[in-house]
Amino acid sequence: MISIYANEAAKLCGIPANQFEAMQKCSAVTRITFPLRRDDGSVEMIRAFRAQHGVRKPSKGGLRFAETVDLQEIEAMAALMTYKCSVVDIPFGGAKGGVSINPRHYSSEELERLTRRLTMELAQSNFIGPSEDVYAPDLGTGPREMAWIADTYSLLAMGGDDEINAMACVTGKPLFYGGVNGRLEATGRGVFYGIREFCKNEKLMSRLGMKTGLDGKRVVVQGFGNVGYHASKFLVEAGAKIIAVGEMNSGVFMADGIDPEALLAHKKENDTLLGFPGADREFSGRADSNRVLEMECDLLIPSASQQQINRSNAHRVRARMVCEAANGPTTPYADRVLSSKNIAVLPDLLMNAGGVTVSYFEWVKNRTHVRFGRLERRNEEQSKQALLESLRYKGRKVVEDEMEKNRIIRGPVERDLVLSGLEETMVRCSEETIETAERLQTTFRTAAYYNAIQRLWKETSIDEVQYTNPEWTSPPSAV
Ligand code: NAD
Repeated sequence: MISIYANEAAKLCGIPANQFEAMQKCSAVTRITFPLRRDDGSVEMIRAFRAQHGVRKPSKGGLRFAETVDLQEIEAMAALMTYKCSVVDIPFGGAKGGVSINPRHYSSEELERLTRRLTMELAQSNFIGPSEDVYAPDLGTGPREMAWIADTYSLLAMGGDDEINAMACVTGKPLFYGGVNGRLEATGRGVFYGIREFCKNEKLMSRLGMKTGLDGKRVVVQGFGNVGYHASKFLVEAGAKIIAVGEMNSGVFMADGIDPEALLAHKKENDTLLGFPGADREFSGRADSNRVLEMECDLLIPSASQQQINRSNAHRVRARMVCEAANGPTTPYADRVLSSKNIAVLPDLLMNAGGVTVSYFEWVKNRTHVRFGRLERRNEEQSKQALLESLRYKGRKVVEDEMEKNRIIRGPVERDLVLSGLEETMVRCSEETIETAERLQTTFRTAAYYNAIQRLWKETSIDEVQYTNPEWTSPPSAV
């Protein structure tokens, strides 16, 4: 899927097919098999993979624990990460890792043993390190697994050149363990900023027959995990209405809008969406809950797993826009069907890049060893205070109220700066994608890949190297 999308954009960039083929391959791949002692004393062999893609270092990408993991999926996701980092202008290559297990079938002690042993195996083959390959949470993993990885790697790095930066071998860590404020909700928040930007565009909205802005937009969400819940929460706060949510084996529809907080609490308590108070309709079982994808709405947000919109259901999708919060939720066939129905697809590599953007901030924080805001906060507060003091209207202070004054002069803390960096990235890159799509008269997906590939090509192109180094008359020997 990713090759098909990338090839289409590479053609528009004018990159010769044989040279682009080289750019598409993973640069390094490892398959690891190791024994895990289960709690009952038995031994099980565990299979794991890691793929690195592109020429940039370090490479960056999630580690997933899922039964369906295979090498082909991991290599494809590593390639997607390269394009994702490039489209939001983050200086990482792509990577992805996976362990073929269902984490629900293992105790937390077993998962800890597995994760620590995996980290040792990866370190031995040079597939992890703050300047080499940086890990992040993905399906089935979270801050807890990232902390185990950081802890194990730090012990292995002791005494070496990397020791001081060891924590930067992984992002998405808990806050008390070198994480950054705002990472947990970053992907969902980024999805929201991206959607808000596309909905501001008058030309696009009038083409789709909608008014600009988020107010009153009817939204359907598939997958109510980290990304789906957070995207829903911010959209509702901005005035949109979540009319239906679909989960693995259950779903709910409420014409007047669902409260995401209440639905999350219900899901946590009952492990299903069924029985949610006030629901107008319920969906029960996998096949039935998949039908939320076919509901009439303004915006459909697949935020579960890949290939959910495919040959079997694409022609029944009745949304005006599809925002890909999950990785690869639309197959190329379905993508063409949606296009022919004038349904705008906001592509995954741009829309869910909020996670890697904030991960990049965490990596920078770990490597600089300084908390964001530590240097500038008091200085900003003092200069704003001085400015307020100097402003007078008819001899009176402009702001008399102490609480209001404190609110105005408050300097930024880490969270403010991280969210501001995330918003800036999503807004700017969404604008770039809209502008490229208009200029090339193409889809948003091709436009996003085009921008990503252009950026990568400039870095790797031999012609470019020769051009910027006039004394080189032949390609450098490394090339
Ligand atoms: P998660 O495990 O927190 O949530 C996924 C949710 O989807 C779960 O509630 C699960 O029950 C549900 N689900 C799974 N398969 C389903 C199906 N077939 N139909 C309906 N519901 C289904 O995972 P997440 O972190 O929210 O990630 C969701 C997607 O977003 C994945 O594709 C992931 O690769 C992508 N993504 C996540 C991040 C991140 O920072 N978490 C970043 C980029 C991309």
